[in-house]
Amino acid sequence: MRITESKKITDFFGCNVFNDGVMQKYMPRETYNELKEVTDLGKPLNKELANKVAKAMKEWAGDMGATHYTHWFQPLTGTTAEKHDSFISIDKSGNTVLEFTGSNLRKGEADASSFPSGGIRATFEARGYTVWDCSSPAFIKKSRNGAGILCIPTAFCSYTGEALDKKTPLLRSMEAINREGVRLLKILGVDAERVTANVGGEQEYFLIDKRDYNRRDDLKFTGRTLFGAMPPKGQEKNDQYYATIKDRVSDFMAELNEELWKLGITAKTQHNEVAPAQHELAPIFCTANIATDQNQLIMETLKKVADNHGLTCLLHEKPFAGVNGSGKHNNWSIATDTGVNLLTPGETPHENAQFLLFLVAVIQAVDDYQDLLRLSVATAGNDHRLGANEAPPAVVSMFLGDELTAVLDAIEKDEPYSGVEKTVMKLGVHTLPRFIRDTTDRNRTSPFAFTGNKFEFRMLGSSDSIACANIMINAAVAESLRQYADKLEGAENFEGTLHDLIRSTVKEHKRILFNGNGYDDEWLKEAESRGLLNLRTTPDALPAMLEKKNVDMLMRHRVYSRAEIQARYEIILENYCKTVNIEALTMVDMARKEILPAVAAYEKDLADTLEAKLKMLPELTGRYERRTIAKLSGLVDEIDAAAEELDSATIRLKTINDVAEASYYIRDVILHKMAELRVVCDEAEMLTAEKYWPFPTYEKLLFGVR
Ligand code: ADP
Ligand code: MG
Repeated sequence: MRITESKKITDFFGCNVFNDGVMQKYMPRETYNELKEVTDLGKPLNKELANKVAKAMKEWAGDMGATHYTHWFQPLTGTTAEKHDSFISIDKSGNTVLEFTGSNLRKGEADASSFPSGGIRATFEARGYTVWDCSSPAFIKKSRNGAGILCIPTAFCSYTGEALDKKTPLLRSMEAINREGVRLLKILGVDAERVTANVGGEQEYFLIDKRDYNRRDDLKFTGRTLFGAMPPKGQEKNDQYYATIKDRVSDFMAELNEELWKLGITAKTQHNEVAPAQHELAPIFCTANIATDQNQLIMETLKKVADNHGLTCLLHEKPFAGVNGSGKHNNWSIATDTGVNLLTPGETPHENAQFLLFLVAVIQAVDDYQDLLRLSVATAGNDHRLGANEAPPAVVSMFLGDELTAVLDAIEKDEPYSGVEKTVMKLGVHTLPRFIRDTTDRNRTSPFAFTGNKFEFRMLGSSDSIACANIMINAAVAESLRQYADKLEGAENFEGTLHDLIRSTVKEHKRILFNGNGYDDEWLKEAESRGLLNLRTTPDALPAMLEKKNVDMLMRHRVYSRAEIQARYEIILENYCKTVNIEALTMVDMARKEILPAVAAYEKDLADTLEAKLKMLPELTGRYERRTIAKLSGLVDEIDAAAEELDSATIRLKTINDVAEASYYIRDVILHKMAELRVVCDEAEMLTAEKYWPFPTYEKLLFGVR
């Protein structure tokens, strides 16, 4: 079905989702109400209810043409996993029947032996469990021929109950912020049953021609180009940003939106991004859990739909050197079940005190746990972006805008706020100036920016799950809220305590606030003098995961167990090492099997030409051929030597058993040797006639989609 031919968006939006409307249609009212209490209020799910829900789901899935179901989960590989079971079963009399029970829905057993577990799951205990997450709706994935798979979002854990996925700790962190948020609100006299973290994730990506992609081993094996000289034109004219979208890309986007809408994903904004061939998509925000599931589906759908259009979608953080890489902006806020966004400045002095309290809670969280936020976005791919004058730097800081900063300043100093009207900001007495509500001031260089009623965390890489960042934000903010609740609970002079709390928090944590240009080198110096961390690479950032203050906080809020923290630390570093090792091996391979033979062939052709020319006209100098052959011969030797060095380094890497040691070796040796090999290869590319070059160049990749 094409939109243009028929229906309105609203007619098919969410048609592949087991959503509210579907539930009401397929379930008796009492069952529906019971389930709502489970999904919305977190009440436990009993067996009987699970059976009733499963029955409705089976019926709906059957009507939708689904033949299989799967427990859809997010292992620590960073992608999603699914194993399909058909609804077919044989009953006692030997008849083929369709079956899907409450226990099929609730729990699945998965052979976990090949998923990363960081040593949690010993290989002799291969069993892992998937458990239904009823707070994220089930959906049906359709293949092109219409076959459907019912996907049930699930958490994935080991036989002994440790989380082996990204969803479980995310749900636990949401529970932590709910627990502490509700507690604090009660103390403030606000009646709320639940506090929920909401997230809107903006997704950047590149689109290139599939034929070009298929001709490059680096893209196929590593998702990024490991070689490639810059063409004469890159992004310097900023003529791609928000530019008219080419027809072929428009067609792709139309199908993409349609597929996402069917999955109930509110694809909202789309535009061309800064780099040639780069684009962005953003849905409307929803709960952090659903937003994370949806972001995984968005990435999957981007790739699938691109393929239908003869395109390949690159989600890597830095597919091309010399132009911008891709990230994700994680827009985050917290709201109550009564619909109040706790990060919206209010109308009354009382609401403002509440707003300021939650605001400083985030400020404190970001300052106290800058290391956790930084490492939550640490990957080999993202290391190429952070701090490279295109993404926020590796230093975590916060942007509040001038007005809000001035308000906090006035509170800290008990001085008159010198905004539009001069008032001493006494909490519980004065309202905030209205203009703070629409902070239009945008600072694109800040890693963590307040944008009116939400915070935008901009350090995430484009291919990463957004779960990791949100786990850390939620946990860190829950910790501030816990501390505040402890202090305010039973305080004799409530107003005074509240005022002092906000004041002292501002005083203690204002070093994290920075409204200036985050790309500026001066800032890095200043950040250092403020005592902020500058964790440049993944190996630099990861050790903080094991620091006592971080382990204590994460365990206190039951987000991770000690074993889970250790496991994740190892998996992230291991993944870093594997990623770069594959890149290094791919480079050696491409240099030896493709680049050197190509350049040699060109040299030979030049030499043959020269010989023929001199035979015919002996008085010629042959300057062009001689010089080019000489330069290329020099480069060929350098390429050969650099490939040899890199090759030896990868052999040495194999002998390092400690994962942290290995990651340092990669950071200090392998990455440099890769850069050295690339430089000489790119130089050779500039001197070699195009038809000899063994794979598509940047020019084709970046400007080839027509
Ligand atoms: P941009 O930052 O590109 O200007 P927008 O301000 O429109 O974009 O919003 C970007 C994302 O932030 C969208 O996904 C949007 O739904 C989301 N968003 C808006 N309000 C909130 C909120 N209160 N909490 C979380 N996300 C939000
Ligand atoms: Mg944004």
